[in-house]
Amino acid sequence: MTLEAYHALRPFSAPEGHLFVKAGARGLDDPAYELLAQSLEPYGEEALDLNPGVGRVTLALLQHGLLVRAIETSRAALRCLEAGLAKRAEIVCGLPWEAPSESADMVALVLPAERGTRYVTLSLLGAARALRMGGRFYIAGNKSRGFDHYFRLAQEILGFGVVLERKGPLRVAVLEKEKPPPPLPPAWASFSCWVRGRTLEFAYLPGVFSAGGLDPGSTLLLENLEGDLGQVLDLGAGYGALSLPLVGWAEGLVLLEDDWPSVLSARRNLGEKATVLHSDVDEALTKGRTFATIVANPPFHVGGLVVLETAVAFIEAAYARLERGGKFYLVANRFLPYEPLLLERFGRVRTLAENSHKVLLAQKLG
Ligand code: SAH
Repeated sequence: MTLEAYHALRPFSAPEGHLFVKAGARGLDDPAYELLAQSLEPYGEEALDLNPGVGRVTLALLQHGLLVRAIETSRAALRCLEAGLAKRAEIVCGLPWEAPSESADMVALVLPAERGTRYVTLSLLGAARALRMGGRFYIAGNKSRGFDHYFRLAQEILGFGVVLERKGPLRVAVLEKEKPPPPLPPAWASFSCWVRGRTLEFAYLPGVFSAGGLDPGSTLLLENLEGDLGQVLDLGAGYGALSLPLVGWAEGLVLLEDDWPSVLSARRNLGEKATVLHSDVDEALTKGRTFATIVANPPFHVGGLVVLETAVAFIEAAYARLERGGKFYLVANRFLPYEPLLLERFGRVRTLAENSHKVLLAQKLG
């Protein structure tokens, strides 16, 4: 896939209406969205979609004549929402647990189970806070991904609930807010670790990659960097695992990250020492901006499914954003087939280290 093809927005006709979709954006092929979109009943006037993805549930809420606010974290998904629904709904980049309290008559949430228990729990609490008393909360999820547990938790937080739909392992339930919600627990956590000769502290929000400790792949990449780095681009930066250790070594640091909680975490960790942009691959960079070094531990999951299209776009963007002679360091699980892709784009690839992960180096020659 070319970088241009990755970035292209495509119109899509869902049963609920017209949307835009693109590579790397969640919520189109996921049957939980479809089931929730089909089983919603309107309630009141103002609705909140707390995990919209490309917007199928948002559209269903609009079709019912509700005023809709959609809060999304992924820049790729926000690009689709802004292109397709900005005139009809309020599209907001934000954290699901920071929705204004008592602002909605109904809330819809496809359980973001792949983001971990803390993220889902905070999303449920966020929904409970955002609802007015007596308001309705629709959730959709998969039995094999914790639906029953999260449904019970939602009942503890809100009150009465009932399962409305069962389709294979998928479930949709509706709950009513019968009591004031408990206070939000602190969202921030942190850990310290020893990297390249110093102790560093990383703060992070729920849902980020490798919460609680550096990923072994990222550690292996850091151990294999050498020489002058010049201006460094950290592609898919997470909370800044690959960048914070480079402060004082790199001439400058730019971090690109699709996920808003990760962007906030990286900004907290890097402060003034780097530029952290909310970006779908290299979309937020100015045209022609290039770097001497690019580092990445590319994603291979979107919404819990293994997909390599974003990783392929990372490789394409790395090539496009390197200056001549520049180096691209990529780390991945050993089973991921990145060598042929790097070979095709860069003409040569070296394996610098290998254990459960491998660090690959590709240099831009031409
Ligand atoms: N560099 C970090 C995070 C690696 S995980 C570390 O080493 O710990 C891969 C990261 O890529 C995740 O934080 C994920 O949110 C981000 N990502 C996924 N899709 C992306 C996209 N389209 N554009 C930019 N970043 C993306």
